[in-house]
Amino acid sequence: MPIRSLPPEVASAIAAGEVVERPASVVKELVENSLDAGARRIEITVEKGGRKLIEVVDDGDGIPAAEIALAVNRYSTSKLERAEDLFAIQTLGFRGEALSSIGAVSRLELVSHTASEQVGSRLIVEGGISGKPQSAGGPKGSVIRVRDIFYNVPARQKFLKSETTERRRINSLITRYALAYPHVAFRLEQEGRESFRTTGNGNQREILATLYGVEVARQMICLPETEGAPIQVHGFIGPPGISRSNRRELTFFVNGRWIQDGQLAAAVIQAYHALLMVGRYPLVVLFLTMPPEAVDVNVHPTKATIRFSDARLVFSIVQRVVRASLLGQAPAPDFKFEGSTNALGWTPATGSARIGWIPTDETDQAKHGAGGTVQTTLPGSEMPLLRAVGQFGASYLVAEGPDGLYLIDQHAAHERVLFEKLMIAVRDKNLESQRLLEPDAVELSPSQTLLLTENLEVLSKLGFEVEPFGRSMFRVRAMPAILSHLAPAGALKAVVEDFEEDEAPLEAEVEARIAARVCKRASVKAGQVLSLSEQQELLRALEQCESPRTCPHGRPTMIRLSMDALEKQFGRRG
Ligand code: ADP
Ligand code: MG
Repeated sequence: MPIRSLPPEVASAIAAGEVVERPASVVKELVENSLDAGARRIEITVEKGGRKLIEVVDDGDGIPAAEIALAVNRYSTSKLERAEDLFAIQTLGFRGEALSSIGAVSRLELVSHTASEQVGSRLIVEGGISGKPQSAGGPKGSVIRVRDIFYNVPARQKFLKSETTERRRINSLITRYALAYPHVAFRLEQEGRESFRTTGNGNQREILATLYGVEVARQMICLPETEGAPIQVHGFIGPPGISRSNRRELTFFVNGRWIQDGQLAAAVIQAYHALLMVGRYPLVVLFLTMPPEAVDVNVHPTKATIRFSDARLVFSIVQRVVRASLLGQAPAPDFKFEGSTNALGWTPATGSARIGWIPTDETDQAKHGAGGTVQTTLPGSEMPLLRAVGQFGASYLVAEGPDGLYLIDQHAAHERVLFEKLMIAVRDKNLESQRLLEPDAVELSPSQTLLLTENLEVLSKLGFEVEPFGRSMFRVRAMPAILSHLAPAGALKAVVEDFEEDEAPLEAEVEARIAARVCKRASVKAGQVLSLSEQQELLRALEQCESPRTCPHGRPTMIRLSMDALEKQFGRRG
């Protein structure tokens, strides 16, 4: 083929793809525009996960009638004049690409009214073709409606994730912006129901409470003001007792812009070093403020990645501020660190250091004297040979090891055992699946139906043979042998319900995450009485595991009370 210039509609669809990846990215651009327009109230309405409609209504400055046609032109912006301005961006937008990109791949409608004009104006753009601006009524501010996104880009449509995924994305986007802009009243309506709202009263902890629940919000530590520093870090960090199995609750805003940054995340994780189990991540919301010239925001069309002029400085400040607040807060109410090479002497690689544990209840502590140290051993490392002594509370195994007394959480331990067995079987393709004589039918809600349909392939790798029949009915034909003691429909339903708890995992993690959920269902529960030989069998199986110290969700399977600590408690040694 000879070289040709692309026809304009093709070129603009390609360019649009960089800015508008998915419905959630449209919501992000529109909300950023409202914030740039100084809105104090932003209402977002979404239908079908944004595929059918995204509407953003704000009470911001509005677009003058004379400029509304320009607003949807590529590289047309009111926020930037000269090239130099690029190095001191104060607004969220500046590329002048969002509205034109959105207009290129959807049916876009703008209605806007400035305070100084008698009437407002209205403009429609369909698949990149702009209509004529009309006069329109309405209060001061803007209404932007985006309908039928990608209706003219079928290739893009195919890659859209499910509506549920998109809804979750939009939800986490809006809740985060609401946190960063507590003086703006946000309201999000999804599928005809209000899913989130803030009052705009400036109280961030109140917003945290709607996000994480009152109790978690109460426990989150507010970082102290760092007045005068060139780089300021505000925000909230979760106590080490509250953690997640993924990094999704690490949120960073830089100069009011929500960004993704692996190194900032690493700095925070480093600050929690030894305070959290390996594989667990804290809840953190950080707002960094720095001079605009200290950061280059013009790195990527979505503006979600940025470049710091002095990245090392930024990371070290973040790490220090977070670390200092964590340690200042009586380092995690129930953990005390002791002994070895440094103050926090926990070095996972060697497995030599230990975390001490003090009873949480202070009166309890007073009764027994301080320093009743049970040690949680290191996740991931090997475990010693254990001899089952008995069961406690029908939930914990008591076992003796060469270096002390062990308490093993039977549910967590069994989960680990099943999980590794299942993953090895999947890897070696010799998974045992059990065919049912009678297929078992299960009915699911619309969103569960979507989730299940998306995950059918992974489930089949794990031994579930499930086929849709009817709109929201499924038939289970076979299931993993390890679940054979559960009712097939119930087992499937339980697994699907588990999907709903979490945001969609990364592609690479899907299999392991679903396997972990299946194993959670299949493992012995707390409260189940085990015979001594069953206990011993579980311990043997756990010894065979690669990571016997943690369950697949990252919680510890065992804690240890060393002989040493025991002797101190009984006053046999000083
Ligand atoms: P950018 O935000 O990078 O300038 P956009 O394509 O997102 O580019 O918007 C183009 C222009 O339209 C903006 O510069 C602004 O002047 C105007 N605009 C867009 N949305 C709004 C809004 N909600 N309120 C007021 N003006 C808006
Ligand atoms: Mg913009």
